[in-house]
Amino acid sequence: MVDVIGALKRWIVPSACLLCTGPADPGTICDGCRDSLPWNRIACPVCALPLASASAYICGSCAADAPHFDSALSAFRYQPPIAGAIAGLKYHAQFRQSRWLGGELAALVAARPEPFPELLLPVPLHPKRLRERGYNQALELARGINRVLAIDIDWQAATRIRETADQIGKRAVERRREVRGAFAVDQRIAGRHIALIDDVMTTGSTVNELARACREAGAARIEVWTAARVP
Ligand SMILES: [Zn+2]
Ligand SMILES: [Zn+2]
Repeated sequence: MVDVIGALKRWIVPSACLLCTGPADPGTICDGCRDSLPWNRIACPVCALPLASASAYICGSCAADAPHFDSALSAFRYQPPIAGAIAGLKYHAQFRQSRWLGGELAALVAARPEPFPELLLPVPLHPKRLRERGYNQALELARGINRVLAIDIDWQAATRIRETADQIGKRAVERRREVRGAFAVDQRIAGRHIALIDDVMTTGSTVNELARACREAGAARIEVWTAARVP
């Protein structure tokens, strides 16, 4: 028999899995998708780079040249279906994805013994980029985290004062030079424990430059939380 009530309910209240569009509770993912998510469980504790095997050691690049932030946490590895969810957020204003991704990140944070940061700072977009897109996906992700952990969001403490090109494929020295001076950070974060929020961490050069500016403004402890990390 045709499930008329079910079909009607799905039509009135869209209850599709955020990743495969199969049946799921509204705003969530189905069990099948949950079982196959690319969690970033084995990763460098400093920069969240996915590692092949569990070890207490930090990755080679952090050992050679420590970043300006203290630690990083990425919920997922940047691969399907997470890459698709992030694209939906970033290019199609699918804020149900940032609510869900932010919720997953918040659950990981809540499970740690460490104290919560006092403030969430979304990585700012350049005003020109913000005008084009109409929203900042990092701020939307921070809102998803805030819904669960109730940590205040300060989206004005950091501003992007210079546009930077895509840093993929460039050498570390080049990347560092090109992002240098990209951010201005207000000294109201002095002495605070903060978490920088972004959708994806690729090479880490952009968020590292923001961390440098935060450190200069006096931040006491700097974490980086992203939905996904590029291996
Ligand atoms: Zn699914
Ligand atoms: Zn590392």
